Amino acid sequence: MTAPARPRTSAAATRGSAELIRAEEPVLAHNYHPLPVVVARAEGSWVEDVEGRRYLDMLAGYSALNFGHRNPVLVEAAHRQLDRLTLTSRAFHNDQLAGFAESLAELTGLDMVLPMNTGAEAVESAIKVARKWAYEVKGVESGRATVVVAAENFHGRTTTIVGFSTDDTARAGFGPFTPGFRVVPYNDLAALEAAIDATTAAVLLEPIQGEAGVVIPDDGYLTGVRELTRRTGCLFVADEIQSGLGRTGATLAVDHESVVPDLLLLGKALGGGIVPVSAVVGRREVMEVLRPGEHGSTFGGNPLAAAVGSAVVGLLRTGTYQRRAAALGVLLREGLAPLTGRGVVGFRSRGLWAGVDIDPAIGTGRQISQALMAEGVLVKDTHGSTIRLAPPLTITEEELGSALGALEKVLARGV
Ligand code: PLP
Repeated sequence: MTAPARPRTSAAATRGSAELIRAEEPVLAHNYHPLPVVVARAEGSWVEDVEGRRYLDMLAGYSALNFGHRNPVLVEAAHRQLDRLTLTSRAFHNDQLAGFAESLAELTGLDMVLPMNTGAEAVESAIKVARKWAYEVKGVESGRATVVVAAENFHGRTTTIVGFSTDDTARAGFGPFTPGFRVVPYNDLAALEAAIDATTAAVLLEPIQGEAGVVIPDDGYLTGVRELTRRTGCLFVADEIQSGLGRTGATLAVDHESVVPDLLLLGKALGGGIVPVSAVVGRREVMEVLRPGEHGSTFGGNPLAAAVGSAVVGLLRTGTYQRRAAALGVLLREGLAPLTGRGVVGFRSRGLWAGVDIDPAIGTGRQISQALMAEGVLVKDTHGSTIRLAPPLTITEEELGSALGALEKVLARGV
């Protein structure tokens, strides 16, 4: 007896990579320029394309997949919840949300949680909370509150957020923008101090600038921002949507300086690579400015998101992922160091996260990414000639070694 043919589940399942890529062109908005790989399934640190080719995922969904693809603990939590209750809206309570909020507050050492979905929504929500706090608690004159942000920031794609971006590609053509933002150079405490005045509601910063190319500020900068914001009576809002939840070898990037912000923004990995989950986590005195009806989200805090988010917090509570990121981060750094001068112009890394500047004479970041793809390694370029390495924290020593070996090979060969 012959085995039954594998059922065709969709039209897409019958088409190859090239055909699927061509099919996207006329029907999908052109706001991305993906590498030419069509992923069909994944597990742990590996993805497989529609033709069955396997690739080591060294991007991990921009850190949304810190715990690996289809982490069994998270998939189990999602399945369990899918079988019971998926959505109530916040018009009613659900039995998952309190536990999620308690566990996240405890993990971060803060008091209250505002659950949202995407990272940009968490940023928007924090701006609203900070402005309201400025008017109601600090006493800023109505309509005058300002927020200080850093040059080269990346906080998302809404009109307010791109309005204070310094990246022309992100901004051009999308104005007019929301007023009330001041941009200062990153990693410059004197410039930050000069920009803060009586109207300042908050300083909003990434503790490590991810999209800018994993830009790590000097030791003491985050401590300085904390002292300065406290002294001048404004809030410190830390956007850890990419840097948080284990990536840097600690639960949060601010933990490296033992800094506790007033508002902490989380997203990406909080949803375990399964559902979009984000949150503003903050001090009670600040978060309490929100009252019923003033802010909300149909999906924010839904029971499926809360169940997955609770399972994510459970994984982080063990400390295993943070320790892996720290230990493997040493190997990443040691593997990149000898490439400096051999195709790598410089690199910055913390934990399992690196921005690697490639010698433009060898190729653009895009060309290097394509060459690595041919070697079975997926990375993403940023800002021309930089590639970002951010594998799932489940990656093994051998897998990391093979990715670095592929990079060495591509740099030696050229593109
Ligand atoms: N903030 C930071 C630091 C990010 O890196 C990102 C996304 O890359 C965002 C906010 C926006 O998150 P989302 O794409 O989920 O809206």
